[in-house]
Amino acid sequence: MLKIQNLHASVEDKTIIKGLDLEVNPGEVHAIMGPNGAGKSTLGYVLSGRDGYEVNEGTATFKNEDLLDMEVEERAQAGLFLAFQYPVEIPGVSNMEFMKESVNAIREKQGKEALSAAEFLKTAKEACKQVQLPLAFLKRGVNEGFSGGEKKRNEIMQMILLEPSLVILDESDSGLDVDALQVVANGVNSQRDGKRSFIVVTHYQRLLDYIEPDFVHILADGKIVKSGDASLAKEVEKSGYAFLGKKYEESE
Ligand code: ADP
Ligand code: MG
Ligand code: MG
Repeated sequence: MLKIQNLHASVEDKTIIKGLDLEVNPGEVHAIMGPNGAGKSTLGYVLSGRDGYEVNEGTATFKNEDLLDMEVEERAQAGLFLAFQYPVEIPGVSNMEFMKESVNAIREKQGKEALSAAEFLKTAKEACKQVQLPLAFLKRGVNEGFSGGEKKRNEIMQMILLEPSLVILDESDSGLDVDALQVVANGVNSQRDGKRSFIVVTHYQRLLDYIEPDFVHILADGKIVKSGDASLAKEVEKSGYAFLGKKYEESE
């Protein structure tokens, strides 16, 4: 599904990712943890193709195609979902219109017929219910005046509607309450079908109480320094990042 080899990337001439390797197979859930400033969010931005993030070395393939060579829209159309790609506010465009356009653009690429307004409304209502957002949110401007928790629910709704093959979530928002964490976890768990893959970047081991990852990776100073199963997250919860050396003992 995703294969990253020896990735080096920089932002504003500062090298952040320093030789990162990661392989994600269909159906797998990978958690990425690590101290503050390790490069977790940067990795997500690089994979999403965000402006200003430069790849200096290494490769990343998605379904055996060169991911780094794709435009942002092409990445989405190929089945990559990056939560933080959609949190922007688009006043004047309803959530419903925006999602319908996005879903149908992807369906068109996949050679599927576009959903009619009625068909889409039915699916959207179900997704709304699943993330516990009142139906009124479909009519509101995209993310316009949404609270942190509502944006999070909306993001998970987008994920459900877009039916991606690889989901990358960056849970960096320290304002997330337990309810919102559970919405994220339920969203991920409900979309786990043995084929779809997930990379859950988290600053909190707590999220992993609700999502059981197949693999846990520790990212420190721009590379993955340790990988293991779910028990590695428990270890971090208990002992922190002290095993990385003195520098990280006080880190989150
Ligand atoms: P994490 O998500 O693991 O906490 P980030 O990927 O956000 O870490 O940041 C990694 C490092 O890159 C930090 O030292 C941060 O200050 C730096 N960084 C991130 N964005 C920029 C930027 N636009 N310009 C300069 N440095 C940046
Ligand atoms: Mg951070
Ligand atoms: Mg971050």
